[in-house]
Amino acid sequence: MLSGATRLAAVIGHPVAHSLSPDIHNAAFAATGLDWAYLAFDVAPGDTRAALDAVRALGLGGLSVTMPHKEAVARLVDRCSPDAEALAAVNCVVPGADGELVGENTDGPGLLDALSADHGFTPEGRRCLVVGAGGAARAVVRALAGAGAREVLVVNRTPERAAAALALAGPAGRAAPVEAAADVDLVVNATPVGMDTPGTPLPGVRFSAGQLVVDLVYHPAETPLLAGAAADGATAANGLGMLVHQAARAFTRWTGVAAPVAAMAAAAARGLEARSSAAH
Ligand code: NAP
Repeated sequence: MLSGATRLAAVIGHPVAHSLSPDIHNAAFAATGLDWAYLAFDVAPGDTRAALDAVRALGLGGLSVTMPHKEAVARLVDRCSPDAEALAAVNCVVPGADGELVGENTDGPGLLDALSADHGFTPEGRRCLVVGAGGAARAVVRALAGAGAREVLVVNRTPERAAAALALAGPAGRAAPVEAAADVDLVVNATPVGMDTPGTPLPGVRFSAGQLVVDLVYHPAETPLLAGAAADGATAANGLGMLVHQAARAFTRWTGVAAPVAAMAAAAARGLEARSSAAH
């Protein structure tokens, strides 16, 4: 029951109507009995500063940030965490009691949490390959290198962007051709290929048992990349785990309460199913 005491958290994005974040966070508030609610606000690209002013003025308890606001928020908050600073992108704003807004980036750590919780995979000493060099890829590259991966290979269509992503990997980083994906422990697709473009970002690659292939895309739930990896005997996982675990980290930062991850994952799966059936 909403009341005058209910605290509000929200996501800003454009577009944002199909975001699963309200499903995930409202399920988390219900599961923990917290008197909080979570809404999605469609904020036009030029209005990021006004949205952050609203967070301050309205005393929001937390803010999620999605495209196209992640970079602008990194410039507009009072302070960034080391991850957000290095990536120049924020996906989670934590309002302090004194009104200070701290920008954080939970995407990379969220993926690592999902790999560990769902697959028992830890990057230390492992050979990893990331396809793509955009915001999500950069977060993943930094997280894998920071967690001690032996190699962080980057495959990207535009070499200059690959170099910028590799700068986040330190000595473990190296540019690689598509074929290198057949011979690593972990493959992460951080391009939209398979979602808004048909096909796979790693054409012609055959995977094998013992490899973990993760697609950050989760709609469709099984992309051509994941279908091929599973058919080759590899373990295949979509991006829902990362979405849930980055939200779990945000929930805990805002509320100070341990995140009910199972309830959040169930809500994400239900929300995705509902959106998929509505689309057909
Ligand atoms: P972005 O910043 O726009 O970067 C996209 C990357 O994909 C770029 O490196 C781009 O290559 C590459 N790319 C795009 N189209 C391509 C194509 N047709 N062939 C080959 N490469 C292509 O996007 P982003 O924010 O990083 O997001 C990337 C994907 O991750 C999206 O599908 C997004 O939905 C997903 N994502 C999922 C989560 C999650 O929680 N599961 C979180 C964040 C993002 P160039 O550099 O050559 O342009």
